[in-house]
Amino acid sequence: MKLLEGKVGLITGLANERSIAWGIAQACHAQGATLVFTCQNERLERHARPLVDSLGATLIRCDATQDEEVDAVAAYCEEKFGRIDFLVHAIAFAERDDLKGRFIATREEGFLTAMNVSVFTLIRLTRAFEGLLKVASDGGTILTLSYLGADRVIPNYNVMGVAKAALEAAVRYLAADVGGDGIRVNALSAGPIKTLSAAGLPGLRTMLSEAESVAPLRRNVTIEDVGSASLYLLSSLSKGTTGETIFVDGGYHAVGTSVRSKG
Ligand code: NAD
Repeated sequence: MKLLEGKVGLITGLANERSIAWGIAQACHAQGATLVFTCQNERLERHARPLVDSLGATLIRCDATQDEEVDAVAAYCEEKFGRIDFLVHAIAFAERDDLKGRFIATREEGFLTAMNVSVFTLIRLTRAFEGLLKVASDGGTILTLSYLGADRVIPNYNVMGVAKAALEAAVRYLAADVGGDGIRVNALSAGPIKTLSAAGLPGLRTMLSEAESVAPLRRNVTIEDVGSASLYLLSSLSKGTTGETIFVDGGYHAVGTSVRSKG
């Protein structure tokens, strides 16, 4: 029996084949899940459509900052399946101007945009899908994606680091709200991966080469690594875990200095 056989999952944030959402989707598909995808707009739909078609899945356009678009996806899932077993929130955005230089220079508008797209969308999606997750066969589960910039200062990550800290706090508050209905809410904190969004971050190449040399596993993680880790949080293997953030970063977060012992 496959881990997600008979389960229905909604995966947001698919931009292209480099997206973390795609790594998660492939792992879920291999484990027997039926998938519904959302992508932000028409431009991204052109890249997402062939991927989704290759899995025989459904793709719906949805700007997650818009209540009515999110509600329409929930209505579709309710009519088609009557429930959702898992939901993946793989959405984040900050303006380029706020991803460089001094954090102190963050613009109010840019701060609000980053928080709205990267954090509030998790709250909106949880609210819209709470009823459908509540009737999941094995207890519904929600997964979001974070990064070490929530805990530590990462140059240029700036406003997104504050958004990820808020996202991880939102995971805990949402977990407390929906836990009584058997719904779990967790996050994976992935190491740097060159995706469409990450490519806009100045210094990404340096971050990747540092992670490769400093991380205990001496390599960067891949979307496949995040996909396989997601199976734990999206399946009943993690039925006793909620409000948690788990690192998938080759152990980079655990290291205090890049200085190595000579032994
Ligand atoms: P990506 O560019 O492939 O995915 C980001 C997605 O967010 C895109 O599909 C984009 O369309 C979507 N999005 C942005 N605004 C949206 C909106 N208003 N409505 C709907 N969707 C919207 O990049 P990714 O790296 O796969 O990012 C997925 C998640 O993983 C993000 O939360 C990101 O912060 C997180 N993450 C990424 C890394 C990394 O290094 N790539 C590391 C840790 C965490």
